Amino acid sequence: MVGLLNEHERTMAFAEVALGQIRCLRQTAVPRNYEIWYTYATGFNPGLNKIINETLAHSGKLSESDLEQIYETYLSQLRTTGRIDKVGAKVISEIDDVMTLINDALGMTVKYDSSLEGAAKNLDGAVDRDQIKNVIDNLVKSTREMQETNKALETRLIVSKHEISSLQQSLEAIRAETLTDPLTSLGNRKFFDRALSEAVQQAHLAGEPLSLLMFDIDHFKSFNDNYGHQTGDQVLRLVAMCLKQTIKGQDITARYGGEEFAVVLPNTALRQALTVADHIRRAVMAKELKKKSTGEILGRITISVGVAMLQPEDDMDMLIERADACLYAAKRNGRNRAICEVDPEYMPNNRIHVA
Ligand code: GH3
Ligand code: MG
Ligand code: MG
Repeated sequence: MVGLLNEHERTMAFAEVALGQIRCLRQTAVPRNYEIWYTYATGFNPGLNKIINETLAHSGKLSESDLEQIYETYLSQLRTTGRIDKVGAKVISEIDDVMTLINDALGMTVKYDSSLEGAAKNLDGAVDRDQIKNVIDNLVKSTREMQETNKALETRLIVSKHEISSLQQSLEAIRAETLTDPLTSLGNRKFFDRALSEAVQQAHLAGEPLSLLMFDIDHFKSFNDNYGHQTGDQVLRLVAMCLKQTIKGQDITARYGGEEFAVVLPNTALRQALTVADHIRRAVMAKELKKKSTGEILGRITISVGVAMLQPEDDMDMLIERADACLYAAKRNGRNRAICEVDPEYMPNNRIHVA
């Protein structure tokens, strides 16, 4: 009872610290943030505590994308690793079972070989019908045993084949999940980094054009403040849906972080990319937002888009940097627009974030 009470008191104390931090840093009390701060309070995940302390010391706050990054790195990865370990353990136990069976079968083969040798010798020395019949009976018996062992092995291997292919599917599902943003089902930042790196390499090799769009929802903070985080999440899903409906084929879409999205357009030059950017912008603007729970009309949201095209001397980071600078130029110039790097509004090295 004392143990239980202590456990109760301890967890309540962690919960209080977690809620206190959320309150004091004016964050939303969504389960993700609660989990981060609860883990922080327990001190069980030193890496998580270190990064939080460092970020707070450096900037005095934790932004939405800091929280997302921390969750991805220190909590959701942990869960994935646990699941991979479980599948891995099942694969190992499956292999152990099959190895035991194969060893038994090998033992049977050795036994069968020696019974064949014995039969050959006995046959040489056999003088009458009964002795020959006896040798043959023994041969039939050991052949049957051998057949049974083979049959059992075959049956077990078929079961094993199914089991291993279903474990393979589980691993593939886990892998896909680690590259997917759970809120929007678009690719996540990790997916984006990999996909862009491959696309840049491919474009350089083939000498083909490649463009990158980066876009960000306008005034999303005040939208969240006015209508709540849950409705904000609904808007993020809606933007993702617009994106999926507008973008097709080989183009790559991802949630870059927070309320920022990215689209990689292989084999696409700047002007065409600007047209795609404008399609997405119009598609988002065309949607009238309605609060699911009450049916209240919330108006419309807009996005600002930056568009850049890969240059021969570019690596992936340089391309991202220019697309991002174009995005901020779009913000500076009034939002709800797409700006590319040949537009006069684009001024490199002059990034000012207008709140
Ligand atoms: P700007 O037009 O300059 O982009 O203004 P903004 O208000 O959109 O920009 P700011 O970066 O100040 O705010 C981004 C906001 O996006 C902060 C946070 O409330 C919200 N946000 C980020 N990620 C999420 C999320 O996963 N869910 C919800 N609901 N909101 C998010
Ligand atoms: Mg924004
Ligand atoms: Mg933003």
